[in-house]
Amino acid sequence: FGMCNYLLRAINDSNFMRQNNKVSIKKVLDILDEDIEDTRKNMPPINISQGEIEFSEVSFCYDKDLPVLKNINLHIKKGEKISLVGISGAGKSTMVGLLQRFYEPMEGCIKIDGTDISQCDLKSLRRSIGVVNQESILFDGTIRQNLKLGNRKSSEEEMWEACKKANIDDFIRSLPDKLDTVIGSEGMNISGGQRQRIAIARVFLKNPKIIVFDEATSALDFEAETAVKKAWQELSAGKTSIIIAHRLSTIMDSDRVAVLHGGEIVSFDTHKRLLDSCEHYNRLFRDQYLIEGCATA
Ligand code: ADP
Ligand code: MG
Repeated sequence: FGMCNYLLRAINDSNFMRQNNKVSIKKVLDILDEDIEDTRKNMPPINISQGEIEFSEVSFCYDKDLPVLKNINLHIKKGEKISLVGISGAGKSTMVGLLQRFYEPMEGCIKIDGTDISQCDLKSLRRSIGVVNQESILFDGTIRQNLKLGNRKSSEEEMWEACKKANIDDFIRSLPDKLDTVIGSEGMNISGGQRQRIAIARVFLKNPKIIVFDEATSALDFEAETAVKKAWQELSAGKTSIIIAHRLSTIMDSDRVAVLHGGEIVSFDTHKRLLDSCEHYNRLFRDQYLIEGCATA
């Protein structure tokens, strides 16, 4: 795995970015233009029409003696919105990393629309999945450059359209340099909610069939939360989505919830049915979600 993978993981993984968040946008754009290093050559591009995802008997570990995922079976239907929950370190980010082939399963396989993702062109796979994650999703550079990471060919008009859908156009229009405003450590300091909405606009430009959202653990204020949520709902319309959920309200909006515990998916059902049937879910609910639920009820 080369530099490109390093940067793509950075976009994907905010923990990683917190430690390495001085990657300039120019560098990212330069490198993304090069071919992604694919260990398998001459594979056909993946053609995703439905966005159906299937993990079959997937096992994975980073270190030989420490299994992270054990025999994962998870079938996400086309257009379905699922939440992935589990305590910190349960393997949620690892699962979405496997879906994007940052790592490969030791056993089992992952299929999208029936195609084993290990048997397709990696670039086409990455192009088909849009990722929004926590705070550190933008690079030092202009808003325009950050948006172009979604699709380098985006026109001015398409960018504004995406910003409108992501509920961030008014904010950008209010800036003196508009899309050319520099953000990041040497530029303008923007809030967590605004960052997330720019990231969502970027995914609109990418227009993938499958989207992944690693929800922020740190709370945004109510207004910011609502704006992000609205943008996300607009984005996820008609798409298959996986949310690594940290909020009860997000979970309650999803079609089904997959509960990851001890390296296994112990249940996959609606929030309501899980409350009746899943002990691990009840514990998570009690420890992590109930307080927020009461506060906002
Ligand atoms: P979650 O997203 O549910 O918090 P992760 O998928 O990030 O969990 O991590 C699952 C387990 O794998 C944890 O024990 C974590 O420490 C470990 N892990 C995650 N990334 C790496 C890595 N790059 N190298 C080694 N271990 C890792
Ligand atoms: Mg994680």
